[in-house]
Amino acid sequence: MPQMDPRHAILFDTVTIGPKTLPNRFYQVPHASGFGSAKPLTHAAFRAVKAEGGWGAVCTDYAPVSPDSDETPAVASDCWEAADMHRLGLIADAVHEHGALAGIELFHGGASSVNGESRYPRLAPTQATAEPQYASMAKEMTLADIRRIQGDFVTAARRARDTGFDIIYVYGAHGYLMTQMLSVVTNQRADVYGGPLRNRARLPLETLAMTRDAVGADCAIAIRMPAASGRELPGIHDEELLEFFAMADSLVDLFDVNVGSWAEDSGTSRYFGEASQLPWTSKVRAVTTKPIVGVGRFTSPDTMAGVIRSGNFDLIGAARPAIADPYLPAKIRQGRIDEIRECTGANVCILREEKFSHVGCLQNATAGEEYRRGWHPEKFTPARDPDRSVLLVGAGLAGLECALVLGRRGYTAVHLVEAEPEVGGKMRWIRRLPTLGDWGRTIDHRVIALSKQANVQVIRGSRLTAADILNYGAELVILATGSRWCGDGTQPHHLGPLSGADRALTPEQVMAGQRPPDGRVIVYDTDGYFVAPGIAELLAGEGYEVHLVTSLDKISPVSDDTLEGDMLRQHLHDIGVTFHTNVAIHQLDAGTVLGRSAWGESWTISAQGTVLVTQQRSDDTLYRELLADPSALAAAGIAGVYAIGDAVAPRMPSEAVFDGHRLARQIDDPDPAAPALWVRERPATAQPTSLHAHGLAT
Ligand code: ADP
Repeated sequence: MPQMDPRHAILFDTVTIGPKTLPNRFYQVPHASGFGSAKPLTHAAFRAVKAEGGWGAVCTDYAPVSPDSDETPAVASDCWEAADMHRLGLIADAVHEHGALAGIELFHGGASSVNGESRYPRLAPTQATAEPQYASMAKEMTLADIRRIQGDFVTAARRARDTGFDIIYVYGAHGYLMTQMLSVVTNQRADVYGGPLRNRARLPLETLAMTRDAVGADCAIAIRMPAASGRELPGIHDEELLEFFAMADSLVDLFDVNVGSWAEDSGTSRYFGEASQLPWTSKVRAVTTKPIVGVGRFTSPDTMAGVIRSGNFDLIGAARPAIADPYLPAKIRQGRIDEIRECTGANVCILREEKFSHVGCLQNATAGEEYRRGWHPEKFTPARDPDRSVLLVGAGLAGLECALVLGRRGYTAVHLVEAEPEVGGKMRWIRRLPTLGDWGRTIDHRVIALSKQANVQVIRGSRLTAADILNYGAELVILATGSRWCGDGTQPHHLGPLSGADRALTPEQVMAGQRPPDGRVIVYDTDGYFVAPGIAELLAGEGYEVHLVTSLDKISPVSDDTLEGDMLRQHLHDIGVTFHTNVAIHQLDAGTVLGRSAWGESWTISAQGTVLVTQQRSDDTLYRELLADPSALAAAGIAGVYAIGDAVAPRMPSEAVFDGHRLARQIDDPDPAAPALWVRERPATAQPTSLHAHGLAT
């Protein structure tokens, strides 16, 4: 039996925060889920599994205290009505069952509020702080508005205590109302809430004091605040933030510290390594006597223990690493550190939330599916008929995940056959794109896990034909043969192949070592995510003059949803990549690339080479061939043929993992190819009858 490394024992000390005691130092900081108070059972199950996996504290997502901080269409833990808080109380109950403390992050968005449903005006320190994308100005808060918001915090805090929450936050970070008050750019008030730091800090400090008076005897009071303004919180000096911590010291039981804007705090692995915030967050120690929790995409127990030993933090905070592996603390405690499903820092969780989907994860297909689909990250329903042999063709992420889950479900003979000498599929080259190395953790985790799964045999370097599959002797066949980038330049803006596309390279060819002639190279992108910027950066690094051309109206718009768009564009600009947006290329001649701008004008550029990042196509030939001959399948004793991952439709890597996981969970269903419906959680209202019954029809 593996044992905990004694160097990690420090992570399991208890820590007292005000009137509460944490069972250990693992702390799931507040983070969005897309469930909020609208889907309380889904939300409670999502948080509870973290408590079960050993996190000593588990927090909700942002909990708006007032209807003028309504985040619709995003789903937050709204708590301005008593019924909302009752629903959120399910989280506290579920978390307590596993011995953890429950935290709630009381929040007001100020000028950043959306108010999509409430249609109330946004409130701000000064009218100048309206957010430009809304094409409307915020209302400068009156003193009455300030008092009312503070009252909303107090009401929410009392309700939170009464429904069982242990830790009550005043959310001060990430540019929302409290940070807007602190900034001289967004707060230009002439009254006691504007001007010198003590005035700009007055709203958060008073709110903390009022919250403490109301519930401080029963609950721990926390504030989340940046220790440095980073690049995206203008008008706040780092020294002032440290002064703020000192001023707030007597009012809180816990400081939750981070850096700058959300894009920096949840920095992707492209630009932010483990513990990258420490140079700033470590400065808080000198100005407070209170416990500190900080984040830094911590996945290494050695790093975590080092941070605690250094005295910089008392608690290891995590959002993304806890999504990727809810059992991270338990695995450290049991000495199973090679089983940790390490966060990749790809920010798929955030991308989904930004698109108003519920939380998801590149590493953990079960994140958010605990209630809706009944999936547990570490527990698996035993196979109904374990002796059915399974042949999986293709060991990309879909095949690897499917094989692992089938193995864990107890299928006695699972064969995963891969054509290439190594497993991993397209992630093998994606991880070699500049700055995307941590994405390769998806392969590493599964390779290690499969090496312990004796009932799964991984066979490398064997490209199977349909005849091979028919002769294999397997009862179930799963095709995870993936997809590849079209070399013919097929794209949304141009029907059929691109003239002269045979002159161009695909991303796979570049990653296999082929290169355009020296000189100027065009990387043409209609995909909008990471591949084209990655190829552009790679070639620029090798000395090519790279022009990144896209039919879209900005470079890599998808990266905005992973919070890295601005940094990515800045980085590409800084290394000399030239951008051309709103251009659709339709012809590649020798030495010239021809296109048309979105405004109807011809566009040409001379170039020695082109890389086409246009669209992918599923590699589903085997699937079609097999299905085309049912009698051959019957004669071979094959009871089912299924396709998963990019072989079905090329999508983001997280969806290949999800698809592989889903089929393995549901392969005993009557029709495994058709995904089983999930539990659709609806607000608990009585079944409606008619508008007349509600006095509304005319
Ligand atoms: P996904 O994202 O769906 O997992 P990938 O494209 O990443 O898809 O991976 C597909 C994998 O399938 C690749 O590693 C590829 O080499 C493998 N593959 C494709 N066809 C065959 C085949 N006929 N026999 C074995 N492996 C195959």
